[in-house]
Amino acid sequence: ANYSVVLAENRKLHNEVQELKGNIRVYCRVRPFIRGQKEKQSVVEYIGENGELIVVNPSKQAKEGRRSFKFNTVYSPASTQAQVYSDIQPLVQSVLDGYNVCIFAYGQTGSGKTYTMTGPDGASEEDWGVNYRALNDLFRISQMRESTFKYEIKVQMMEIYNEQVRDLLSSDVFLDLHTLGILSTSNPNGVAVPEATMLPVNGPADVLHLMDMGLRNRAKGFTSMNERSSRSHSIVTIHVQGKDIKSGSSMHSSLHLVDLAGSERVDRSEVTGDRLKEAQHINKSLAALGDVISALAQKGAHIPYRNSKLTQVLQASLGGQAKTLMFVQLNPEVTSYSETMSTLKFAERASGVELGAARSNK
Ligand code: ADP
Repeated sequence: ANYSVVLAENRKLHNEVQELKGNIRVYCRVRPFIRGQKEKQSVVEYIGENGELIVVNPSKQAKEGRRSFKFNTVYSPASTQAQVYSDIQPLVQSVLDGYNVCIFAYGQTGSGKTYTMTGPDGASEEDWGVNYRALNDLFRISQMRESTFKYEIKVQMMEIYNEQVRDLLSSDVFLDLHTLGILSTSNPNGVAVPEATMLPVNGPADVLHLMDMGLRNRAKGFTSMNERSSRSHSIVTIHVQGKDIKSGSSMHSSLHLVDLAGSERVDRSEVTGDRLKEAQHINKSLAALGDVISALAQKGAHIPYRNSKLTQVLQASLGGQAKTLMFVQLNPEVTSYSETMSTLKFAERASGVELGAARSNK
């Protein structure tokens, strides 16, 4: 597929595309082929400049099996880390103005979540993902504002695995959100998990050091980093405390950067024991996240934060004045078609509107 070419027929589809609505921004990113498959085997037929995406069901005639979707933005496989970051930079910067922001990467294992959030293994600066860029950027801008605003930037890193929250900046500390009071009104800012290690960022070198420390702790106890990252949610939280030098007024806000566990469905008949338990925890927490985002998009009176540790930890950054952005990651391989569709359905449900209309000749 030539991603920049619009077929006349596709133009017709675009006219029927439904717009995403609600508070949440949804950015779709299609990863490139990495194992040498031919591009004509892609399930992604078209990526438009205005957020259009057309996906083809490989087992049906093209006309019947097409669905069109519309996002705030769709990134083609050729997009760079710098391009992606430049689009979300204003959102990141708004944290310094007092907004709570939450950025997620959602998708099946292998769809590029970690690539988007962290970057590839051993990334050079050019390949850095959102986490490094955001932390660096917040530090840089806070320095620029030094004469009028005094900022303190601190970082927490946590992992949620089997509904247990683990502190990644110290070794093997599990956190009990109930005894820690994150759910109580005595934690009015709500943004920090009170007893997770919080470390200051005093310069760009600290950024690398902290990220490395978190990654090393995350991989512990697993045979490979990939295995771990596909089964646990990782949360980097950047806390910003600012004081207006003239007026003395202060603010506290946070940026949550979340690399979610792989969303792939696990066949219950094929797994048992630990793997089944992991899969159930992952399903439950991703469903809880979808419920919260969907309730927020529909401006529901009751937002069901308490159904998972993930939504409890992120509560203050979801809803109210907080801004939410979700990267919907797609693997374009034909064999991933059904997972790709379920990823798109999650995006659809979370945003509270129907994203893609079924296409048929009948
Ligand atoms: P996930 O975190 O969803 O399991 P990864 O981020 O590990 O997926 O991506 C799977 C593989 O694809 C990795 O080898 C990664 O480097 C590669 N990859 C993902 N997205 C891109 C991209 N945009 N450009 C180049 N390689 C990518």
